[in-house]
Amino acid sequence: MKLTEDPHRRRNALTGEWVLVSPHRATRPWQGEVAQLKTASEPQYDPSCYLCPGNARVGGVRNPDYASTFVFDNDFAALKPQTVRERLDVEGKGLLITETEPGICRVICFSPRHDLTLATMSVDEIDPVVKTWREQFRELGDREVVNYVQIFENRGAMMGASNPHPHCQLWANENIPNYPARELAAQSEFLESKKQCLLCSYLKIEQNDRERIVVENEHFVALVPYWAVWPFETMILGRRHTQSLIDLNDDERNALAAIMRGLTIRYDNLFTTAFPYTMGFHQAPTDGIAHPEFHFHAHYFPPLLRSATVQKFMVGYEMLASPQRDITAETAAATLRGQTEVHFLDRS
Ligand SMILES: [Zn+2]
Ligand SMILES: [Zn+2]
Ligand SMILES: [Zn+2]
Repeated sequence: MKLTEDPHRRRNALTGEWVLVSPHRATRPWQGEVAQLKTASEPQYDPSCYLCPGNARVGGVRNPDYASTFVFDNDFAALKPQTVRERLDVEGKGLLITETEPGICRVICFSPRHDLTLATMSVDEIDPVVKTWREQFRELGDREVVNYVQIFENRGAMMGASNPHPHCQLWANENIPNYPARELAAQSEFLESKKQCLLCSYLKIEQNDRERIVVENEHFVALVPYWAVWPFETMILGRRHTQSLIDLNDDERNALAAIMRGLTIRYDNLFTTAFPYTMGFHQAPTDGIAHPEFHFHAHYFPPLLRSATVQKFMVGYEMLASPQRDITAETAAATLRGQTEVHFLDRS
């Protein structure tokens, strides 16, 4: 089997799901639109932005004149920290099940500057963001009602981000959500059967192979996972086996800031655009149980396929049967690796 030519499927070791890879189709003629997206530059301060310092949010609360990061409870929280537990089972048949889901939703601004992104911020500017993530993870994870903390960033209108101001969200809730639960189960099973960490073992293969590595530093590796579904999907993996941001020492925290910067710059440079993505950390549950099986990591899911405007859609076969991709993970990694680490909008 030639991975560069023959159609094949690859298994995601973290979820058990398969992705169909059709490398022979990557060379087919493209008839769609390949337009250049105008990169409109944002102002440093936008008087109409509800995240800029000093501005009022919906409901009238005014943001402080913050100088670094800023955290607040989401004004439109998807979860509420209510305490009444309830479970409904319509007609007792186990078909229509409903449960209360207590939780907390917060917004974390990365910078007072409206025009910056993680890709255009310096490592020294990103480091306080990582510190804030860690503090928030610790603070919320310590709460009785919180068993799982999800930090995620939606970047770009294509991903539904409502505001270009650099920010992310944090949702903390009682139940471990679907995807982390699946990854937890896979890691747990692997540790039990192989007596090794799934992602430590996986990273060793990737470090020997090197084909899917995009950028790396002393403590972290960013790579296109073997089983990637999105064209330029990546993961950031720590070289050391840790469970969450809390376990990182100062050097590792700084290295995480640096690799996130290095990766997002390459993303932006790829199609000279503010590359849209959803990214997030997967950290061990905060359920009071030790999770030696869990390996802290980040996922990036970007929708772009071959230009700033040509997007991959999960439709047809992908909605009904299985995800599919044309360019291989190896080609995607080589393409990203080839980008420079100087941002195309370099501030200096
Ligand atoms: Zn703003
Ligand atoms: Zn590990
Ligand atoms: Zn994960």
